[in-house]
Amino acid sequence: MNTTMDTKSVAKNPLLIRGYEVVIGFETHAQLSTQSKIFSRAATAFGAEPNTQACAVDLALPGTLPVMNKGAVERAIELGLALGSHIAPRSIFARKNYFYPDLPKGYQISQFEIPVVQGGSVEFYLDDEKKSVRLVRAHLEEDAGKSLHEDFIGQTGIDLNRAGTPLLEIVTEPDMRSTAEAVAYAKELHKIVTWIGICDGNMQEGSFRCDANVSVRKPGEPLGTRREIKNLNSFKFMQQAIDFEIRWQIEEIEDGRAIQQATVLFNPDTGETRAMRSKEDAADYRYFPDPDLPPLVIAPEWVERVRAGMTELPRVMAARFAKDYGLSDYDATALTQSREVASYFEAATQACGQPKLVGNWIMGEVSRRLNAAEADINACPVTPTQLGQLVTRIQDGTISNNAAKQVMDALWSDPQTQVDAVIEAKGLKQMNDTAELEKIVDAVLAANPKNVEQFRAGNDKALNALVGQIMKGSQGKANPQQVNELLRKKLAS
Ligand code: ADP
Ligand code: MG
Repeated sequence: MNTTMDTKSVAKNPLLIRGYEVVIGFETHAQLSTQSKIFSRAATAFGAEPNTQACAVDLALPGTLPVMNKGAVERAIELGLALGSHIAPRSIFARKNYFYPDLPKGYQISQFEIPVVQGGSVEFYLDDEKKSVRLVRAHLEEDAGKSLHEDFIGQTGIDLNRAGTPLLEIVTEPDMRSTAEAVAYAKELHKIVTWIGICDGNMQEGSFRCDANVSVRKPGEPLGTRREIKNLNSFKFMQQAIDFEIRWQIEEIEDGRAIQQATVLFNPDTGETRAMRSKEDAADYRYFPDPDLPPLVIAPEWVERVRAGMTELPRVMAARFAKDYGLSDYDATALTQSREVASYFEAATQACGQPKLVGNWIMGEVSRRLNAAEADINACPVTPTQLGQLVTRIQDGTISNNAAKQVMDALWSDPQTQVDAVIEAKGLKQMNDTAELEKIVDAVLAANPKNVEQFRAGNDKALNALVGQIMKGSQGKANPQQVNELLRKKLAS
């Protein structure tokens, strides 16, 4: 039986949990990185004293008029171009009417029937399998204020600083089929918005907030009723919340209860999701075109100007890395996980001309150390030039891979360290002197007649024992490949 084919067909089948298929769609609010608000000149900076950054326009006081922020529109265009979407030549702002303490003006300006960005997709790898999640739309809207629950005095205050902050709400089709796929999608979208620089991506501060719509169904059945988990502000919580929600929904259905459409919140302390309110329908919001704002008209020339000013996208850069540096798709994707990693890789490669080795070191030893320190590449104490020098010394045979790790340790703890100086000071040079090596080999062969006999009798493993002895005899400085060759030559004679 052909087992390879078997695993493949299993992988192609939808992932089932207790016989149920999971369906997930995302709505993500990305705060756009403009200096000023979407319809006013008030500042958007985070962390100011409450109510110092909301102006009359943000509060819609009588006599004020909103004016569209061009920078917010350009950021929406950039996202559309990055994801292969259609940029609507003419889109409309609408009022979404509801009352809430943090929205005293009674409506949110958003886009409803005709959004600025339409279609497109987010593509990424999940365990070597390429995934594509289709977008429905991305629309511009303003954020509301914030309720501050001051438990110590038993009161709630309202901070309107956030009112009018520009948001892009990015909505997917219900294309995801597992928690892992949903988290991978969110990470990829996060990577793209920060890469093109339209959003700072700070999840703790709420610059990138995800709502996960989750439902389950038996394969082949129509879509199940969804519940929407609001405001997931870390990838860890996202994973916990969706996992919990899936289990909860399956339990409910198995117990004979129907799922009610609802908006739910995740509580990180209990690890559970809980219904907050039953879900409103679009009709509840009484949408209508905002009479204060003209249609948003985007001429093709404007789109082209924005396109010309954009940086190389991760997908495009990964393809270039694969082609120019001979990397696998997987490695090229890993090395373009962020702009910083990509430019580190390119700088180190430039310093030594060894893209594959540099890539392996970045994805291996460098990432391992950064993860342990919970730091990202910006905080890497080893410069790309230093990594390039290290790789050069491995490539030219001066040091072994193991010795190189010791050099890396030294570079890591003291950024002033010079690669060649450490190799010298620690005596890490590989033994490339064959005469000296031969002496050690002869001594080891003479001292281990049993292993020699076993090897000659056809036991290939006996060679490893001898190699080990020789490496030990050379304090690990012998070139393992040379040792192997020399041994086989001697044992053959
Ligand atoms: P609303 O705007 O009222 O939240 P939408 O129909 O625009 O509703 O859908 C919002 C999100 O929910 C989209 O990302 C969509 O893909 C997702 N979604 C819709 N139906 C389902 C479902 N049955 N299961 C999971 N996700 C769904
Ligand atoms: Mg929704």
